[in-house]
Amino acid sequence: GVELHDPTAGGGPIATFPEGFRAGGPHLRTDMLTFGGRSFLLRYAPLPGNPALTERTIPVPLVLATGIAVSILLGALLWLLAQVSTLYQRVGRMARTAPLTGVLNRRVWDQELPRELARAARTGQPLCVALIDMDRFKAFNDQHGHQAGDRLLKAAGAVWWSNLRKTDLLVRYGGEEFAVLLPECTLADAMVIAERLRTAVPEGTCSIGVAEWARGETADELLGRADQALYAAKAGGRDRCCASPSPPASRRRILEGSTGPSGLEAR
Ligand code: GH3
Ligand code: MG
Ligand code: MG
Repeated sequence: GVELHDPTAGGGPIATFPEGFRAGGPHLRTDMLTFGGRSFLLRYAPLPGNPALTERTIPVPLVLATGIAVSILLGALLWLLAQVSTLYQRVGRMARTAPLTGVLNRRVWDQELPRELARAARTGQPLCVALIDMDRFKAFNDQHGHQAGDRLLKAAGAVWWSNLRKTDLLVRYGGEEFAVLLPECTLADAMVIAERLRTAVPEGTCSIGVAEWARGETADELLGRADQALYAAKAGGRDRCCASPSPPASRRRILEGSTGPSGLEAR
């Protein structure tokens, strides 16, 4: 509340706000007001029931200490965030890579294959898969030890990766088996790539089964044909690549009648 005094007139206030207000108490302040060439005295104080407005000087060391403490706290928080982010990336990588070989794992395959099949169905581009299985790997382990077998799997995975395009996918399918996804690749080209992978094995030999996706075929059917081709490569004497014949004409007509990779439409 405020009292307005005319010092030249003396006496009580000439106006107050709120009406009837009388300034007093420990928080009373005064100020001069010039208006129309005349000076007035203002006396104001907190209204009853209002919190008192007080001025307080915060000591410099306290400001400094608080600043330092807040900086340290923020620094610690940033460090913690960086740690969590690193951990998050590591967990993500672990979820996608197979132990030992460091190549991608089957979970990635299960996610990527339907996606690539759907893409091939839409674009009409060819797509092939290849299954690679190390030959007589049990004997290799028995002869050279399990650790040497582990090292060979790791080396084979790395050398196969380096022989593939960026858009291809190599995963460890299980044990000593690997799977390759070759988008936008005809069977003839896939056989050339498979041959390159077969001869790139650092030690021992491997057999490869290759299949080209037939329109309308499910992922399981495609993999089933690649597996049959791999079996044929093994039965044929190992250390070779075999292509799966495309589905018989009658089956192809049924498959081509469907719009896309059946079993995927629901996604
Ligand atoms: P085939 O030519 O018919 O494929 O013969 P194979 O011995 O490779 O096939 P089989 O399926 O009989 O044996 C696979 C072997 O692969 C058995 C197992 O000891 C070995 N193996 C599977 N995973 C690993 C692994 O992570 N490390 C090592 N060192 N060996 C593995
Ligand atoms: Mg095997
Ligand atoms: Mg094997």
